[in-house]
Amino acid sequence: MPDYKHLLIAVDFSASTDEVLKRGIDLAKASNARISLIHVVEFAQVDLSNELVMPQELELDRELLALAEKKMVSLIEKHQLQSSQRFVSQGSTKREILNTATEEDVDLIVIGSHGRHGIQLLLGSTANAVLHGAPCDVLAVRIRD
Ligand code: AMP
Repeated sequence: MPDYKHLLIAVDFSASTDEVLKRGIDLAKASNARISLIHVVEFAQVDLSNELVMPQELELDRELLALAEKKMVSLIEKHQLQSSQRFVSQGSTKREILNTATEEDVDLIVIGSHGRHGIQLLLGSTANAVLHGAPCDVLAVRIRD
């Protein structure tokens, strides 16, 4: 097994988060690697026909970010990851994960995968999108629905 130094674990706070996180934690222990966690808040839906970004939408974005930050803190406490770095950012999930992996010199991204195929895959899989642009190895942890 390659000797990884810095793992970036992508968490979406869904029911499978603990499973994905545990795989990352076990791997980090085995490699003596450090862990960073990332959660991305996608922008609130904006009506593109309206050029004005309404104050309510900005407020909603702020609230979503604050909520995500709280969830990240409790996840860190639950798994005793206080020494890990955390990133809660806003934007495209794929882009934020890839940018953070590059900027933070990550050598393994750990991400959940539902094993979608066919039309479901075309409709969207975060793991697939990340895999295709990744600057490093990617571990897709199979999520059993
Ligand atoms: P999905 O393809 O959207 O079902 O997501 C699969 C995996 O992508 C999740 O298990 C997470 O590891 C990661 N992921 C999905 N959404 C986010 C998000 N908003 N922020 C960080 N990671 C995410």
